[in-house]
Amino acid sequence: MSMGCYDDFTTKNLNNEDLSFNEALRLFEYPLPVLGRISDEIRKIKCGDLVTFVVDININYTNVCTSKCRFCAFYAKGNDAYVLSKEEILKKVKMAVEMGATQVMIQGGLNPELRIEWFEDVFSTIKKQFDVQLHSLSPPEIYFLAKIENTSIKEVLERLKNAGLDSLPGGGAEILTDRVRSIISPNKVNTSGWLKVIENAHKLGMRTTATMMFGHVESDRDIIEHLFKIRDLQAKTGGFTAFIPWTFQPERTELFKEVKKAVPPTRYLQVLAISRIVLHNFRNIQASWLTQGFDVAKLSLFFGANDFGGTMIEENVVRATGKQFVPARVEDIVNAVKSVGRGVAQRRTDYKIIRYF
Ligand code: SF4
Repeated sequence: MSMGCYDDFTTKNLNNEDLSFNEALRLFEYPLPVLGRISDEIRKIKCGDLVTFVVDININYTNVCTSKCRFCAFYAKGNDAYVLSKEEILKKVKMAVEMGATQVMIQGGLNPELRIEWFEDVFSTIKKQFDVQLHSLSPPEIYFLAKIENTSIKEVLERLKNAGLDSLPGGGAEILTDRVRSIISPNKVNTSGWLKVIENAHKLGMRTTATMMFGHVESDRDIIEHLFKIRDLQAKTGGFTAFIPWTFQPERTELFKEVKKAVPPTRYLQVLAISRIVLHNFRNIQASWLTQGFDVAKLSLFFGANDFGGTMIEENVVRATGKQFVPARVEDIVNAVKSVGRGVAQRRTDYKIIRYF
C-alpha cells in the first residue's frame, strides 16, 4: 500500500481485511485531515449518518481498591473510603429510571470485603424491580472476584449472569500491553487476563464493549498492539458491540509526576480515526464527550465515531480528576448532533433504536 493510496484503507476495511502491523503503524504519519477523510468515509458506509446514544447511569459502588493504579484519581486514599448500601444503589437506579435510563452501569474499586453474594443480591434485586439493562462490572472486577472467591472466571460470570448481569463494559483495558500495564497499573489484571474475561463473557452470550485509555506512557506501537488484540478477539467471538477510546486525565493521579497534561484534541482525533480504520470488524465507535467535552465530541463524528455514548446521569471516576462534570441531558446530545447535520436516535445497550429525534 503506497502512502498516496488512501482508498486502499477504505477498501480493506470494508472487505474485512486485516491491516499488517506496519501498515497500521504508518497511519500515524498521515496528516490529520487525511485520517479524517478515510475514517469518515468508512463510518458513512458502515453506519450511515445516524448518531446514537444511550440514557444511562454509572454508579460507583465503592472507592475502596487494592489496585491503586497510578493513573487513577478515584480510589480511596484514607478517610474518604465508602461503600454504597444496596438501598442507596436502588435509590440511584430508581432516580435514573425515572429520568429515562435504560442502562445501568455499576462499577467500582477492587474491594475484598464485597464478595460475589453481595453482587448477586444487588443485581437480582435491581432486575426484579426495574426493566433495565445491567451493563456492569469491568474485566478487572470479574477477575478480582474470581481470585478472592478462589474460583474460575467462567463460574463468576455464570453466577452473575444468573443474577441478572446482561453485559460487561470493557473498562480497565487501558493499554493492552504488559509493558505499559506494569508501569501504570502493576497490581491490576494483565493483558491476557483482561482478554480471558472478555472471551469467557462472549462465550456465555454476554456482549461487551472494549475501551482504550491513552495519552500517558504508551507508544504508537502499543496503541496498534492494543487495537490488534481486540480486533483478533472480535474475529474469534464477534461479541464486542463497540469500541471506546478515551484520554488519560492526569490531575490528582500519581502519574501526574510524569505526565502533566492530557493529550490535545488533535491526538485524540488521530487515535480515534486510526481505531476506525484498523477495527474493520467493529460497527460502533464511541465519541468520549466525558473526557473531550462537547465540541471535540462533535468533531469526532467526522473522525470515525458514530455513537455519542451515554448521558451518564452519575459519574465519579473522571470527576475525581477534578475535570468539570455535568451529566449530558438528552436534549444536549440531540442538539449537539443536529448542529453538525447528523440524525440522532436513542438506543439501548444492544444498539437497537428506541426513538428518533
Ligand atoms: S482504575 Fe479501578 S482498579 Fe485501578 S485504582 Fe482506580 S478503581 Fe482501582
